[in-house]
Amino acid sequence: MVEMELDHERCYRIVSSADARFDGWFVTAVRYRSTRSTESAADVSFEQALLEGLAPDGGLYLPSTLPALPPAWREAESLAELAVQVLPPLVGAGPGELDDLLRDALDFEVPLVPLSDDRYVLELFHGPTLAFKDVGARVMARLMARARARKGGALTILAATSGDTGSAVADAFAGLDGVRVVLLYPMGRVSDVQERQLTVVRPGVTTFAVRGDFDDCQRLAKEAFADPDLRELGLSSANSINIGRLLPQALYYLWGALLWQRAGAEPGVPLLFCVPSGNLGNLTAGVLANRMGLDVARFLAAHNANDYFPGFLRGDRAAYAFKPTIGTLSNAMDVGSPSNFERLETLLQERLPERVWGVSVDDDATLASMRQSVQRDGYLPCPHTAVGLAAVERYRAETGTSAATMVLATAHPAKFPDAVVRATGQAAPHSPALDALLGLEQRVLALEPDLAALREALVADATISP
Ligand SMILES: *Cc1c(COP(=O)(O)O)cnc(C)c1O
Repeated sequence: MVEMELDHERCYRIVSSADARFDGWFVTAVRYRSTRSTESAADVSFEQALLEGLAPDGGLYLPSTLPALPPAWREAESLAELAVQVLPPLVGAGPGELDDLLRDALDFEVPLVPLSDDRYVLELFHGPTLAFKDVGARVMARLMARARARKGGALTILAATSGDTGSAVADAFAGLDGVRVVLLYPMGRVSDVQERQLTVVRPGVTTFAVRGDFDDCQRLAKEAFADPDLRELGLSSANSINIGRLLPQALYYLWGALLWQRAGAEPGVPLLFCVPSGNLGNLTAGVLANRMGLDVARFLAAHNANDYFPGFLRGDRAAYAFKPTIGTLSNAMDVGSPSNFERLETLLQERLPERVWGVSVDDDATLASMRQSVQRDGYLPCPHTAVGLAAVERYRAETGTSAATMVLATAHPAKFPDAVVRATGQAAPHSPALDALLGLEQRVLALEPDLAALREALVADATISP
């Protein structure tokens, strides 16, 4: 039992609690501010930031304050338990209100695998679509469904996807009450594995293969959001700029540090985190964890040939001028100008180059990194994680450090069979979750790349979906 005094704007003081986690803890619901605003008057609630996605001034939402971590976080036995302790004040919920929701969302393992030379891999890919995006998407989906249930009305998530994000989002929202999902992907331009993941039949999900490229899909989604005829569908986006995806991702930095301590790390020594990066959402989540009180020595931003951010950190203006996206083996990190860059600048300002070291790793070095990891440690990484492992080698060579480093493993290697064969000459390992997809029914509708066709299909489909 928790008793609390309710102040204005969901601001609580716990006056008595049988639960030691919350006793005497002053909990204030965090407010959210656009990266382009300095006015606290314009701050919004978590729920508003969640449902809006982008702030009205075009900026991205960040917490205007961050509560300190509750002292009991160090005793957590799972990622879900950490979430239960840390997330409520950040998402405007009272203690205990989200326990079931968070346990349901974060019901998979996040193991720490030690490699040689004080390197560790935190495997974030044991969720249903085998990529770390499950962590953020599953929590965000449940929070959105909860907000919709409270406010009433329809909610349709419309997502343009070039691969991984779409299946994580569709899987996360599938079957949640009163929410439907519409996916747009470029026909013939995603890998076989990705296509299977996108088109498997899920309750409440409709998938369109658009006769065009990813830019056509993005343009269509943008036009649909602005279309007054589609307003009654309650269209919303679930892309990586949504703060609802970033907050849960901060948790696994805490979890990784806990596992590392429990594996016998010297107390008080901060970790280096290496983050395979594209849109920089994952890295931003790490900086938020750091701000909440997690001691982090430094972050390494590991990019592929799309080197906007490493270029910025080097002060190389030509590198971080606008550039088109380059296709690589680590395709979930193929981002020409990362949208979360604006959040990192706001959070760290002139300390950015000191807190974050960045590097760009090309495809040849990625394949070599996959091969070396197998030879050295018997550990097969996916191409994204391999970029991370290569970045650690470069960092160590450049700085002469051998400090403990944790690489976030962002996807399962079984999702990238072609790269595995090229790197190692061996077939990719099987993943039971992917194999299970082989037998499932698929459904996909072809779509011309224009708004009228999408409008017609959405309205027709509204009569069959929830
Ligand atoms: C999305 C993704 C990334 C990049 O994460 P950002 O948050 O966009 O920086 C890295 N690896 C995999 C497997 C991904 O799906």
